[in-house]
Amino acid sequence: MSTTRRQFLRTAALATAGAAATPLLRTHAAQPPLTNPKSPILPSASDSLPNPKSPIQNPKSPNLLFFFPDQMRRHAMGFTHEDPVITPHIDRFATQSLYLPQTTATFPVCTPWRGMMMTGRFPTATGLINNCNSTRPNLYLRREERCITDVLHDAGYHIGYIGKWHLTRPRAPYLPQGPGRTDGIAWDEFTPPEDRHHIDHWHAYNAYDEHLAPRYWDTHSSRDAHRTYDEWSPQHETDRAIAYLENTAGKHRDPAKPFALWLSMNPPHPPYNQVPGRYRDHYKGKTAADLLRRPNVRLEAAGKPAATAVADYFAAITGVDEQFGRILATLDRLKLSDDTIVVFTSDHGDMMGSHALMGKPHPYDEALNTPFLIRWPGRIKAAATDDLLLSAPDLMPTLLGLMHLRAQIPPQVQGADHSPILLGHDSAPRPAYAPYMDSTAGGHRGLRTHTHTLCLAKQNHPTEPPVRLYDNRTDPYQLRNIATETPALVATLTAETRRWLARVGDPWT
Ligand code: CA
Repeated sequence: MSTTRRQFLRTAALATAGAAATPLLRTHAAQPPLTNPKSPILPSASDSLPNPKSPIQNPKSPNLLFFFPDQMRRHAMGFTHEDPVITPHIDRFATQSLYLPQTTATFPVCTPWRGMMMTGRFPTATGLINNCNSTRPNLYLRREERCITDVLHDAGYHIGYIGKWHLTRPRAPYLPQGPGRTDGIAWDEFTPPEDRHHIDHWHAYNAYDEHLAPRYWDTHSSRDAHRTYDEWSPQHETDRAIAYLENTAGKHRDPAKPFALWLSMNPPHPPYNQVPGRYRDHYKGKTAADLLRRPNVRLEAAGKPAATAVADYFAAITGVDEQFGRILATLDRLKLSDDTIVVFTSDHGDMMGSHALMGKPHPYDEALNTPFLIRWPGRIKAAATDDLLLSAPDLMPTLLGLMHLRAQIPPQVQGADHSPILLGHDSAPRPAYAPYMDSTAGGHRGLRTHTHTLCLAKQNHPTEPPVRLYDNRTDPYQLRNIATETPALVATLTAETRRWLARVGDPWT
């Protein structure tokens, strides 16, 4: 293990106590705030973790199905009883899964999150510090990065990727963009096979927001051979994923290999209104007041569009839920469920009128706090909740840890392997905070603990305070900035933020 990674784990493992898993839906015991600067530093994971003596009975490598809609906030899962959204399949899946309600997007924007998910590294390390499009020709996932798919390939996996990619830079001459794209900026692009990081089965696109007329490239398509389909993209992608899972006559994958399939859906990402009427019907007659129940919603300024968008946002989520249900039913039908790790998550949330904002990137929970449910029957506890502060760079090492590939985690990975926690080793070290960042030039840095969110702005920001601190226990809607009242806590969390920035080489300060 490299010095960098060791240091990272050592610092990221600031102790928090009493974080054992609790049953699903039980109100979670709040963690003490990180007020004591002398918080003990745990040894690094490699020093202290029980090298998990695999309790595995079956030496077979598990399959992975990584399902992630775009821009779906944690609150938009019915079982959370937060948003009034209809998600019966996710709700049922939660009863079979471990739920990590404190999961955060780290950098709640498409490309940065996808880069962290693929590489286990922060955007400042990979250069993926904003969305890929034609205005940022140097921003793309480098061929030299070692991604989770590269590791899985070397471990003998067959790898599929279906849906939105958004890690490729558009190249001139630019391809025609969708009819909804009127800003003259190119977003969509062909991803050459050598830039796919060993993904074997490809039915994907870069960034193309035409949910009812999506277009894709296949594994062997040339750049000009993209094809548009007259279907809602999640339905189309689910059909493709089911075909991949069924693998009739070995057409899509090598049946002798374990598989890892990413299913990356664009909805509920805008344009919100591109959603089939059959899902919109679920919310017919509901007013904005019926649907926007969060007390921090202000339908003014930038938050105004939420009044009309929210029904469509929830309708898209109900549609995504239906597709997720089809995937789960397919795994059952093919008797793959027991051998497949299924993850349900999203790259970030959506403000949807909260704090008079829409979309992302913002330090508030509506944008930052993402769904995370993981199921592995017999291995990961079902119908359970754990308050692990899971960050986006942790996804890759944690999944590799679960898949018996801990030794193959690349040394340059900056995230932590939390697989021991997911497998029930309650004494494993836990992070005391999850970092937060958004755009690099101006933008913000901060962190979210189990109890508080700190957000630091550049001093020259004209419309907001340089420091925001929220107590998420007493003020879950983050309505009251307590920064001036709690200078000691601000100082502690600011110092921790600066240590993190220094560790990952972020030049923001
Ligand atoms: Ca996104």
